[in-house]
Amino acid sequence: MSTEADKARAAAEPQPHEPTIFDKIINKEIPANVIYENDKVLAFRDISPQSPTHVLVIPKVRAGLTRLIRAEEKHKEILGELLYTASVVARNENLEDGYRVVINDGKNGCQSVYHLHLHIIGGRPLGWPPV
Ligand code: ADP
Repeated sequence: MSTEADKARAAAEPQPHEPTIFDKIINKEIPANVIYENDKVLAFRDISPQSPTHVLVIPKVRAGLTRLIRAEEKHKEILGELLYTASVVARNENLEDGYRVVINDGKNGCQSVYHLHLHIIGGRPLGWPPV
């Protein structure tokens, strides 16, 4: 049986310039449940939530950041912005009891959308380790 993880592992990494579904969300070509944004980042609810709270935080300009492993010196500021936004989202979503910030990187990390994004997962006790 093919799981979501199998499908993500089978997805090839696209070329850096290839648009993803997140570009359509940024450009408002498809709807998303946006809960926070500023000029640099966008936070919206995951379409297939894995917990009561499941939010994605993405840079509005991908600028080569298809994956975390592609990060360069020039990306330091946006990387900080993304993590800071995760803390803002966690506060706004009342996740004081705890939550997890996840980046799935590459095929072995089960990444399926090649536009860097943070998952903020919370609202229930989470297991460890992730499988
Ligand atoms: P995985 O699919 O294995 O979780 P990623 O870490 O690349 O891999 O996560 C992509 C996430 O984007 C998934 O959680 C998926 O549910 C979410 N997603 C895909 N399309 C949309 C969409 N249109 N709106 C909101 N979330 C989406």
